[in-house]
Amino acid sequence: MDIRAKELKNESYIGKNVSIKGWIHRIRKQKEKTFLLIRDERGSVIQCIIDSSETNNLTIESSLEIFGVLQKDQRAPEGGYEIKANSIKIFNIAKNDYPIGEYQSLDLLLDKRHLAIRTRRMTMISKIRSSILYYSRKWFTDNDWIEVTAPVIVKGSVEGGSTLFNLKYFEDNVFLSQSAQLYLEAMIFSLGPVWSITPSFRAEKSRTVRHLTEFLHLEAEAPWLSLDDLLKVQEELITFIIKHIVQNNKLELEFLKRDISELEKTSSPFDRITYEKAIDILRNREFKIVDKEISRNIEYGDDLGIESERILTENSSKPLFVIGYPLKLKPFYVKADTSKEGLGIAADLLAPYGFGEITSGGLREDNLDNLEKRIALEGLEKSNYDWYLDLRRYGSVQHGGFGLGIERLMRWILNINDIKDTVPFPRTITRVSP
Ligand code: ATP
Ligand code: MG
Repeated sequence: MDIRAKELKNESYIGKNVSIKGWIHRIRKQKEKTFLLIRDERGSVIQCIIDSSETNNLTIESSLEIFGVLQKDQRAPEGGYEIKANSIKIFNIAKNDYPIGEYQSLDLLLDKRHLAIRTRRMTMISKIRSSILYYSRKWFTDNDWIEVTAPVIVKGSVEGGSTLFNLKYFEDNVFLSQSAQLYLEAMIFSLGPVWSITPSFRAEKSRTVRHLTEFLHLEAEAPWLSLDDLLKVQEELITFIIKHIVQNNKLELEFLKRDISELEKTSSPFDRITYEKAIDILRNREFKIVDKEISRNIEYGDDLGIESERILTENSSKPLFVIGYPLKLKPFYVKADTSKEGLGIAADLLAPYGFGEITSGGLREDNLDNLEKRIALEGLEKSNYDWYLDLRRYGSVQHGGFGLGIERLMRWILNINDIKDTVPFPRTITRVSP
């Protein structure tokens, strides 16, 4: 019988002939017997005991198939089952200098990431990543949103020029997309509520624990909704994802020592404050920002950064919407709030326990004149946005949407500090390989 380790650990197989394919995760040789911890292709492990005479050349990460009888032994790790092996078939004897171990430096582990992703921790993280993508897609499908895709090669910026990656494109110069939003906006006229999941690229020059230069961006856009509708969509989506991860990824969460009771506190509605109130709170705490190399108290009009977002949410167990940012802090497409001079109809969602921004969203400027003025004000090249302005020329409607960074959501769900650990092959200012 050839099954994976997780399924093999079952009373009904005790005393039966079984086999397992995998890699040697750990090896402990005694005079007579050798204990192998075999890791299967999905990262679960089972102990195998074999005569030491058979194991002379075995090394960590050698791939093999083991045949034997399943038995129970309290001392066997992870469940008390083990295989008493009677033969092995070797696929490959690994070179005996496998570079991944417990005490390597973070840099070495990143240099050897193609091997380091075999660690069980990375396997658990990748499985949860897969579940998050699955339940995102499920929520949107169940709620009648249509999945679309947008190009990644683009002419115009969405989030401002400072984080654009240039791409030589035949004789032309183009960019890697920072966001699919403008294209999603074009698609709501014929598809209604749409969503997409695409990589976005940002030339983030600062090295932080929450920025990658390539990240997976989940974006949604729909016609005729209000800001309140939009916040509800995000609340429902995120609580749905978390509820199902807690239900279906218990094993992985436990392996990663994630406190599940914290995640279980995520319920709708999320907390909400205005941007103005957020600044008040920070001012009362005498929160300082560095502005032109000078440290000063935060003031109305300043953007919220990593530290200020941490302070706003470090003692809360629920995510927090910050609503109504000054227009000058937001990109050109944010709809102006006509009832509040200078403010935009926009909200960012901050994850609890200090994790900071995970989504940004709001209504989009749907008036042609206003949008043209904003494009000019930002100094953007109007010809690159002419197609986008057509959306305001032909049947413009109130609409809005949001973007969620999958890796940001993962940092919070998995309680991982460094965003690099949420992806198998992270891209940062200093790293594009492997
Ligand atoms: P921040 O202020 O944290 O740099 P942002 O406001 O520039 O983020 P948005 O343009 O609002 O980001 O992008 C929407 C979402 O995409 C963010 O809320 C975040 O979840 C995610 N995101 C943005 N930039 C990055 C990045 N460099 N790495 C990972 N995720 C990102
Ligand atoms: Mg944002």
